[in-house]
Amino acid sequence: MKKTTGTDPAITAKWRPATQAVRAGTNRSHHGETSEALYLTSGFAYDSAEEVAARFAGEAEGMQYSRFKNPTVEMAQARIAAMEGAEACLMQASGMAAMTGSLLCMLSAGDHVVAGRAAFGSCRWILDNVLNRFGITHTAIDGTDNAAWEAAVQPNTKAFFFETPANPTMDIVDLEFVCGLARSKGIKTVVDNAFATPVLQRPLDFGADIVAYSATKLMDGQGRVMAGAVCSSTAWIEEYLSPFQRNTGPICAPFNAWVVMKGLETLPLRAPAQSANAVLVAQFLEDKGLRVLHPGLPSHPQYALTQKQMVAAGPIFAFHAPAGQEQAMALCNALELIDISNNIGDSKSLMCHPASTTHYNMGAEGRAEAGIEDGMLRINVGLEDPLDLIEDLDRALGKVGL
Ligand SMILES: *Cc1c(COP(=O)(O)O)cnc(C)c1O
Repeated sequence: MKKTTGTDPAITAKWRPATQAVRAGTNRSHHGETSEALYLTSGFAYDSAEEVAARFAGEAEGMQYSRFKNPTVEMAQARIAAMEGAEACLMQASGMAAMTGSLLCMLSAGDHVVAGRAAFGSCRWILDNVLNRFGITHTAIDGTDNAAWEAAVQPNTKAFFFETPANPTMDIVDLEFVCGLARSKGIKTVVDNAFATPVLQRPLDFGADIVAYSATKLMDGQGRVMAGAVCSSTAWIEEYLSPFQRNTGPICAPFNAWVVMKGLETLPLRAPAQSANAVLVAQFLEDKGLRVLHPGLPSHPQYALTQKQMVAAGPIFAFHAPAGQEQAMALCNALELIDISNNIGDSKSLMCHPASTTHYNMGAEGRAEAGIEDGMLRINVGLEDPLDLIEDLDRALGKVGL
């Protein structure tokens, strides 16, 4: 059988992104299968009692139990790590398991976190309702304001936690500045990179320590499975995340890891294509006179920063129904092609009203603080022909008097 090169990080690190997406991590069995094998097994059998003892003692390589390691999950993790330019990656059951694990595994009572206030609703919830209960405090700031990061640092600040682009306001955080500030103070940065994926933005290149994903979104890319992933240095993963995850158990199921791994093969094609479609749709809405929040349009306040740190702005953006929630919902209801759905990253175009769905939990006050208005709509632009999407939106806008 032809030698498998996908398992050697020294080789995969040199491949270009499209090659990494298709081949990094591939570890063929003795059958020589071309599509990576799906190992649906919780346990493993050993040749001898001494062999299993050596594995448990960490003296021999190999599998023990799928809560610790699984061959399919290992392949997917190696692929993500190669694409991210990271030393190591661990996958989780969902994006929220990735975010929660990244923070809980390294923080202790008395620690402090500075967080971007524009964030996925559940990311805010874990700060307010989980970490808080264990004596880990936080300050939520406007992540686009570099001075605010500096001003919020306390002697006990251990982590910066933010998304860029942020959900759903599309705020862009200055990765180089914020990660540099953290480094200079010994603070760990946790970047939720779900909207971009390594194809559109690689936070480690700008000095981030930990990059966390909802792999449910663009990585899967076809709306099939829930999964999460965390990339960092081998030292951080081994000291903090791996023992946390092995013992608390929010691991990624082999089937879900396999689906994500196959999704990654087309990610370098899908992410730029969806990004380009999103620019066309956003430009149409802006030309209609609507207020659009899209970091790839010159009207976005951080357009220049986006150009610096992202390859393209991604498939997701927000815009406003000027008359508020009722009109926003009526617009959703008038769509014939674009689905009403709160998911993102799918190859199908999806639209939702964040204030009544993904960000409902934050309450009116929290939404006002995070800049989520009642008339705001969030759209994930898929792989359909953008002209069909524009026609659908045009027809729906007409129905609601816009
Ligand atoms: C969806 C999402 C999450 C949560 O991921 P799940 O896979 O749904 O648990 C976290 N952060 C961002 C930015 C997201 O879009």
